Order: sequence, then C-alpha cells, then structure tokens
Amino acid sequence: MPLSPTETSKILDELDHRPKKKLGQNFLVDGNIVRKSLAMADLPEGMPVVEIGPGLGTLTKQILANNHPVFAVEIDRELVKNLEKTLGRFIADQQLDLIQGDAVKYPLANLPSDIKEFAVVANLPYAISSPWMESLLHTKRIPFRMVVMLQKEAVSRMNSTHGTKEYNALSIFLKAAFTHIQTHPVSRQCFFPIPGIDSVLVQLDRLEAPFLFDQEDRALIRKIFTQRRKQIGSLIKKESTDVKEKIDRWLLANKLDRHLRPEQISAINWQQLAAEPKQ
Ligand code: SAM
Repeated sequence: MPLSPTETSKILDELDHRPKKKLGQNFLVDGNIVRKSLAMADLPEGMPVVEIGPGLGTLTKQILANNHPVFAVEIDRELVKNLEKTLGRFIADQQLDLIQGDAVKYPLANLPSDIKEFAVVANLPYAISSPWMESLLHTKRIPFRMVVMLQKEAVSRMNSTHGTKEYNALSIFLKAAFTHIQTHPVSRQCFFPIPGIDSVLVQLDRLEAPFLFDQEDRALIRKIFTQRRKQIGSLIKKESTDVKEKIDRWLLANKLDRHLRPEQISAINWQQLAAEPKQ
C-alpha cells in the first residue's frame, strides 16, 4: 500500500528531505492509482519492468510484490540511499536492479541487452518526460507496453494531429511506434506534495510493426519543426544537396505541395520521408 500524505511527510522529515520541484518530486499517495497503474499494465507473468524515478518506492514495491523484476533509475542520491535500505532485500535477491543516474542518459536503467520483452511503468518526472521518450526511441528497444503518468498537456501534445498547434516532432515519432490505448485522469490530491498541474495515466502499446526513425531523420524533422509555420519549400533551401533531393523526391512521391507548412503534414507522410532511401 502507498504511504498516506502524513506518512510520506513523516518519512521525508526523517530523511531530512525536502521534495525537489525541479525533479518533479510529487510522490504517489493514493492506493487506487497504484492499483490502476498495474491493472492498466496487465503484465504477463514475470515480465521485467523498467521504472523511471522510483522515489520512495511506492510503485516499485507493488510491482515487486506482483513478482516482476524491476530495473529502476533514480537521479536523487538521497532517495537512492533510502531505497537501498527499504528495498535492500529485493536488491539482494536480484529482483530489483537500481541505479543512480539520469533517466535521459539511461532510459532503460540497467536492463540487460538480452532482455527483449519488457514493460515500462512509471510516474514520470514531468521535466524529462519528452527527452526521456526521445532517448527511449533512440535505444531502438521498444517496450511492449508503457503505463506512464504524464502532465495533461504532454498527453494532448503526444496525441495531437497535423493541423493543430500542439502537433510536434515527438508526437510523430511516438505515433510510428505506439498506439494509444487508454487514458485515466488523476486528481492532484493523489500526490504529495500536491502539484500545481493536472496529471493523466496513459497506456501506450507497441504497434505490431513499429517504425523507428533513425537519428538523422529525427534531427531533421525536429529542426524543420522549429520553424513549423514556414513553407517546407523555403525551409529546405539551406539544407545539403542530399537532404534537398531526398525531400524533393518525398514531396513528389506523396503529392505534397512545397507550400505546405511542416505542421500541415501528417505523421504518416513524415514517416514516408524517413522511409525514403538515403542516396
Ligand atoms: N515513483 C515515485 C512515486 O510514484 O511516488 C516518485 C515519482 S516522482 C513524480 C518522480 C521521481 O523521478 C522522483 O523520485 C525524482 O527524484 C525522479 N527523477 C527526476 N528526474 C529524474 C531523472 N532525470 N532521472 C531519474 N529520475 C529522476
């Protein structure tokens, strides 16, 4: 069971730990949400789980109690020390592999490379939710399912489609790899301290044939989206001949007008750009 707000506050006092806003330290204090996260994940027996930011270990304990090995990465040294104490027996039994570090650098914690199928269950620190997802895609190791707590606005950006102002490069990359299954709004009272933003629990499942943009294409699309309201024809003028030719072939093959703006081009069309052979 998760700790109540009073218990959480007491533990933080004992640790002499003031929750760090910058690290998104709003700890889960609601049993229903912990249970809901695991129900949404509906993990096959023994499926390894990657957790980002275990904090005080609220979700971690529940995942371990359900007999899933956990690979976790936590940036806060004090919290890591505390987890090593409170969850020491799971570490000794090799059920929990915990590293101290930045999840953007270690998006899959210490998950061994021979583990092919795994899930992600996490109450993500909001400041890194987008960079972490970018890093995850970069590993080319895509979880079969992710159940993650996100800021409400981040979910609308992630689900946005072309023609809306929220549409962005990351939503294009995510749509190519995952399908959005369900969303569950979470009250601010489910966290301690109470955050100033709304949160949503989201389930994303890997597509049957996920398409992964390579680094070069992701960088190009991200760069193009920094000037999303300019016409694609004028945006590519400063690009190398190779890139210009690739974009010209793509525009022609997909009957896309040079006057279109990046934000008017669908995710599928961007995927077709990445699928263009490199010359
Ligand atoms: N999982 C816990 C829970 O649900 O109560 C804590 C979630 S809290 C929203 C986010 C956690 O992520 C904090 O413990 C914070 O220290 C950690 N964190 C923040 N930035 C991080 C980063 N870049 N890499 C790894 N952990 C990070």
